[in-house]
Amino acid sequence: MRTGPLVIVGAGQGGFQAAMSLRQEGYAGPITLIGAEPGLPYQRPPLSKAYLKTGEAEKLTLRPQAVFDAKGITLRMGTRVTAIDRAARQLCIGDERLDYETLILATGTRNLRPPLPGVERALDLRTLPDATALRAALERPRRIAVVGGGFIGLEFAAVAASLGHRVSLAEAAPRLMARAVSAEMSERFRLLHETLGTELFLGKGATEVTEGGLVLADGTRLAADLVLLAAGVRPNVELAEAAGLAVDNGIVVDAGLRTSDPHIFALGDCAAFPEAGSGARVRLESVQAATDHARAIARTIVRGDATPYAAVPWFWSDQHDAKLQIAGLARPGDDSLVLDSGAVLRFRGDRLSAVETVNDARTHMQARRLLAQGADATRDSLRERNYDLTAA
Ligand SMILES: Cc1cc2nc3c(=O)[nH]c(=O)nc-3n(C[C@H](O)[C@H](O)[C@H](O)COP(=O)(O)OP(=O)(O)OC[C@H]3O[C@@H](n4cnc5c(N)ncnc54)[C@H](O)[C@@H]3O)c2cc1C
Repeated sequence: MRTGPLVIVGAGQGGFQAAMSLRQEGYAGPITLIGAEPGLPYQRPPLSKAYLKTGEAEKLTLRPQAVFDAKGITLRMGTRVTAIDRAARQLCIGDERLDYETLILATGTRNLRPPLPGVERALDLRTLPDATALRAALERPRRIAVVGGGFIGLEFAAVAASLGHRVSLAEAAPRLMARAVSAEMSERFRLLHETLGTELFLGKGATEVTEGGLVLADGTRLAADLVLLAAGVRPNVELAEAAGLAVDNGIVVDAGLRTSDPHIFALGDCAAFPEAGSGARVRLESVQAATDHARAIARTIVRGDATPYAAVPWFWSDQHDAKLQIAGLARPGDDSLVLDSGAVLRFRGDRLSAVETVNDARTHMQARRLLAQGADATRDSLRERNYDLTAA
């Protein structure tokens, strides 16, 4: 095992987990966790959910400072790493240089800001300060327009509508969450949001943010005094790219989550890794991927574990009273089969690729177990068992 200085760049969900897992696994060398945001590492999922209602920032903190101190993890928050000198194995923080033996890049993503006229008027929802500003804005009645019908735009819309604001939402794709769920699940959530009073404009991208709101591609004008931009993200790859690491919609890593430099790993939202089975390179934006990557990297560093990364992806989204859970990873062209329970099974050819459920944690957990076993998840075997997901 290497025991030299280990540095993690990015103190979000994945960077934090990497530091904790390394100590749990018994890493004996110095660990430094560097994060550009101020304050202690925190979790983002509640920013578009409970936090908007409660404002309880302390509940977002992943661990108190005392835990980092007790574990000998040096936290350097409010600190941006500006370059990687791979030849010298050093990081640059402005003029300062910091040695590393092993480096983990956990730089996450940033919000995509499309080059629309007036886009600077629109607000983001990525960081705690973003959510705090939105929460303050929600304190008085608003007409709100949301750009983007993905998880974050919809979660925000659901909270805003339930607080009594007038909400409209524009999505360029013809259906909601089109990248992530089946057409059937999109439809279910369309009905939910319409019941909440949100006006949905599907297949209509935003073309301009004006003082009075939003203009859509077909000329429709949505009156709004607050516009939220939730149009997707871009991975933070510039540091890796400038250091000559392979980058392709994320920092390219192998099945051991190692970059093209054997001393450097990458994880979470910023990492493009080979999907188990297909080998296709994917980049996932989820707590599961960030934390499972971190644990796998810690095992590799400490135990020399060379098992290829193969965790089953899973996701969740809370929209009003509906907890959407997805086990597995479907592609847009995968078939769908809707069960009586409302669960949607997705198939790629003969194989189960994903299972979508709403307020049905039991089926979700069964699906995760079944997908992890792999071999039994064929269309025929499931049909024979009357689509009982309990593994044989
Ligand atoms: C509003 C919102 C709601 C979400 N809800 C869910 C949910 O319900 N379920 C779910 O699974 N996922 C959810 N996600 C996604 C989830 O939060 C991310 O997938 C997860 O945080 C990824 O972890 P990460 O460590 O890769 O990146 P992040 O947690 O984003 O952390 C990356 C950190 O790196 C820092 N950084 C970048 N460059 C540098 C540098 N050069 N120097 C120092 N620091 C740097 C950034 O400032 C950032 O703090 C949500 C995200 C948001 C924004």
